[in-house]
Amino acid sequence: MPPRTAVFFHAHPDDEALLTAGTMAMLAAEGHRVVLVVATAGERGLAEMEPGDELGETRLKELYESAALLGCARVECLGYGDSGLSPQGGVADERPDNAFIDADTEAAAKALAAILQEERADLLTIYDPAGGYGHPDHVQVHRVGRRAAKIAGTEIVLEATVNRDPLVRLLKLAGKVYRFPPEFDVRTFESAYSPGEAITHRVNVRRYARQKRASMAAHASQASGGDSDRTLAVMLKVPRPLYRFVFGTEWYVRRDLPPGARLRHPFDGWPA
Ligand SMILES: [Zn+2]
Repeated sequence: MPPRTAVFFHAHPDDEALLTAGTMAMLAAEGHRVVLVVATAGERGLAEMEPGDELGETRLKELYESAALLGCARVECLGYGDSGLSPQGGVADERPDNAFIDADTEAAAKALAAILQEERADLLTIYDPAGGYGHPDHVQVHRVGRRAAKIAGTEIVLEATVNRDPLVRLLKLAGKVYRFPPEFDVRTFESAYSPGEAITHRVNVRRYARQKRASMAAHASQASGGDSDRTLAVMLKVPRPLYRFVFGTEWYVRRDLPPGARLRHPFDGWPA
């Protein structure tokens, strides 16, 4: 396969570690050009540090470190404000002036499309329409990403997602032995991410488990500290031997392929 260019579009630093790090490391190892674009610096993420510019700077540094570990050739931040989350997990009332969620979709799409055109990108990853678990900035990544691919004429658009079927089964099983915090409702996962039948690409990234784990660990501001409910902190606690199995697959939906297509590589399905 001749080298191609893949642009991974994410909302915040650390989203790449959770959803697409294995695929990024794999493509880079295969000789493809891998570009990472985030919409925001994640300055309103959960951390020991107060939300704000300083946290944003720290998180961008962590992003560069993660990107280097994964073999990225270029990292860009579109510079929008992290919209944050309300305590209920929805759109926060107090948002920065340039919050990504309030951004003009067309203007944001043009900024991303400029990078896609400059890179002559063959592939763009965005999120599923639900924005995974529903963070407003993640929903916006879907909208902006889809439009940007249209403007730039990017051939392949993959929605990075999680196969929610085993996730829901696992959470229900875990709920029998482990008491989740009261605000954690397993039922919300029944409509999050994507059902197995919609997934077109199942990418085996077990060989890149070490890089994926290192990428997660690079986001230290999100992974350390006393708050053990943080997603990254919880995931880093998965014992190393199990890690390959738990994080060994990354899932994508390509909407212009028939659902039920079972492809193994992001560039599979490339028109002949
Ligand atoms: Zn995020």
